[in-house]
Amino acid sequence: MSQFPASRFLTKALLSAVFLLLAWAGAFSTERMQSDLQALQAQGPRVAGTPALTAAGEYLAAELRKVGYTVDFQPFTYSRTRDLGSSLQVGDTTLQVSSIAGSPGQRVEGPLAVVPGAGLAADIATLNLQGTIAVVRRGGIPGLEKARLAAGRGAVGIILVTEEPSGTRFTFGGSSPIPGVTLSRSDGDALFNQTGTRAVLDARIVTEEVQGRNVMARRGSASPLAIVGGHYDSVPGSPGANDNASGTVTVLELARQLASSPISEHTWFIFFDGEEDGLWGSRRFVEQNLELVRGLKAMLNLDMVGVDVNGSLGIGGSGELRALADCNALQVACGSAPGGGSDHVPFAQAGVPVLFFFRGLDPNYHLPTDTAADPRLLSQTGQVVRSILERLLR
Ligand SMILES: [Zn+2]
Repeated sequence: MSQFPASRFLTKALLSAVFLLLAWAGAFSTERMQSDLQALQAQGPRVAGTPALTAAGEYLAAELRKVGYTVDFQPFTYSRTRDLGSSLQVGDTTLQVSSIAGSPGQRVEGPLAVVPGAGLAADIATLNLQGTIAVVRRGGIPGLEKARLAAGRGAVGIILVTEEPSGTRFTFGGSSPIPGVTLSRSDGDALFNQTGTRAVLDARIVTEEVQGRNVMARRGSASPLAIVGGHYDSVPGSPGANDNASGTVTVLELARQLASSPISEHTWFIFFDGEEDGLWGSRRFVEQNLELVRGLKAMLNLDMVGVDVNGSLGIGGSGELRALADCNALQVACGSAPGGGSDHVPFAQAGVPVLFFFRGLDPNYHLPTDTAADPRLLSQTGQVVRSILERLLR
């Protein structure tokens, strides 16, 4: 066997050590992210305004302080509606239904009236729905518009039949004049043959005041050039592993990776609260920090990045920012993502270039079965985000 002269051996050993160190410094720790995922889920659903959410916020703050960040909380309040257990009785059958956020809490009674087609304005506008509970398919136009149109034709309640499983939470995104509930197709399709059957719709909804809290980590005192964020709240009844402990943990690990890099002097890491109730945390941040927001070169938002739905990491938003993503060198399959529905939206509306990282709606979306996110996917996502920050801020 051959032997290296001592000096060459030493050089080689040193070089290997340096490479190892570099590899280590650049590696996202899947073990640590797995334990972060467990810590976030340990408290149960992280519903805004509950002790579980407070505990999650404390965990994030403690982890960020460990690596030298200054952590601030941004408290805010808003009101939301909560379902206390709504029901729909059709003839002799009682169905458990989910009331749609934005419905009045009301018990109404009347014969079922089927709205034909896709329930578009033209379908509803010609009907006489006086005193009825309207049965409509979801889609085409917003549910709130359907509720307003149906109410305008005299309906006292509305049932939206959806493609999603029963129990999935929906919001009208505004105040509906009549109570509305959703049903899955398997539970709701039968109603389309029951025109005239008497029904009782009991939407048991209360309005409550919620105390929300964003968690913000920064180094130094300069205004940021970039914000990397994701929401850390989840919906009632769901552990929210993919939605959105996945994004939360990726942002946290990225913050750790960058803690001693110049990049973190220009980047704030923000964990938004109240996303599931209507993007409250990100909207309040933008409203209260308009000048800071105007100076941003980028807002990168991570939501549902732990389950491989489409075989690629979806990236939507600014083409210029997206061009900075080093997907090829990192050997990450990158695809596209739809535009809306998460915390980058208020920033985009304020004129900030944004990117939205999203791997698609998985089958466990908003359900008690949303219990797993793959740390390897989180690692890939974090590396792509880091490649963008490196090119943007160097
Ligand atoms: Zn989400």
